[in-house]
Amino acid sequence: MEQLDLLPIELEGVSQERPLIIAGPCSAETEEQVMTTAKSLSDKGIKIFRAGIWKPRTKPGGFEGIGVEGLSWLKEVKKETGMYVATEVATAKHVYECLKADVDIVWIGARTTANPFAVQEIADALKGVDIPVYVKNPVNPDLELWIGALERINNAGLKRIGAIHRGFSSYDKKIYRNLPQWHIPIELRRRIPNLPIICDPSHIGGKRELIAPLCQQAMDLGFDGLIIESHCNPECAWSDAAQQVTPDILDYILNLLVIRSEHQTTENLNELRRQIDECDNDLMDILAKRMRVCREIGTFKKEHNMTILQTGRYNEILDKRGAQGSLCGMDSDFVKQVFELIHEESVRQQMEIINK
Ligand code: PEP
Ligand code: MN
Repeated sequence: MEQLDLLPIELEGVSQERPLIIAGPCSAETEEQVMTTAKSLSDKGIKIFRAGIWKPRTKPGGFEGIGVEGLSWLKEVKKETGMYVATEVATAKHVYECLKADVDIVWIGARTTANPFAVQEIADALKGVDIPVYVKNPVNPDLELWIGALERINNAGLKRIGAIHRGFSSYDKKIYRNLPQWHIPIELRRRIPNLPIICDPSHIGGKRELIAPLCQQAMDLGFDGLIIESHCNPECAWSDAAQQVTPDILDYILNLLVIRSEHQTTENLNELRRQIDECDNDLMDILAKRMRVCREIGTFKKEHNMTILQTGRYNEILDKRGAQGSLCGMDSDFVKQVFELIHEESVRQQMEIINK
């Protein structure tokens, strides 16, 4: 397991109870938009305000952020509402400007996390500063790159660090703007258990309607908090209009959330866990048996000078088990993936035998 030298991100006046909430517009657009949104959010009890000052855009020509001017609006938010303010930094210059303007929290965006040079530049600029830093996952599903960025910030001496799960881009978009791939933040939690992880349902979903279910899912998976885009007039937002919600809607969504306890120690749960362990043991036994048979097939193929890969047979297995999976109430793609992995390991074992 990785060792990060961390301290909890405790902010005076902000409850330590799950979930920590950060909310605010994708971008700071005008002073009026920032102040109106911040006041409404503050009225709903939100304590941490987010707004992008510099916006990384896929194509040139979009709204690239208001820049330094917007930092004075964030100062005004602090003064008028007492909220903490957070924004994205992508360069050393952004860091210096934020520190000068008393920004309370900074985050590193997904495109920046994907670039170790940029992350190192930010880490160097933050040396000797004690400010909470959140690191979004890189756009590509690469846990090591994500952890590497967290380590760079930590190595610069910062200890109040958190991670933001905002999903991963993929070529074929279906429901989500960015695929959640929940197993990646779950693995991050396993690798660095004391690292707070919050979820960004706005950038995962890309649509307002998906925010509520994604928030609930994140809570059920034990995430520590949520960062949600909220705008006083979402339809007219200068960036990410489809995924922002009004402070009223945000309040409605948060009130409906069910926060379940992470530590359930009831007898029933222990019994069910015992049953799961038993199933897992059976699965391992049966997998080991299947591999044994595969190795025998490998020996047979070697003796008869046959190729390892018999494509027809492989497709037959995937189709048959996929269909069977549906009948058993499982997702057929899931079952196919399981069998693809099993097949990969079988081929590897047969290769060992054939090349011996
Ligand atoms: C944002 O938070 O507005 C943003 C640009 O997010 P991401 O870096 O996750 O794309
Ligand atoms: Mn955004």
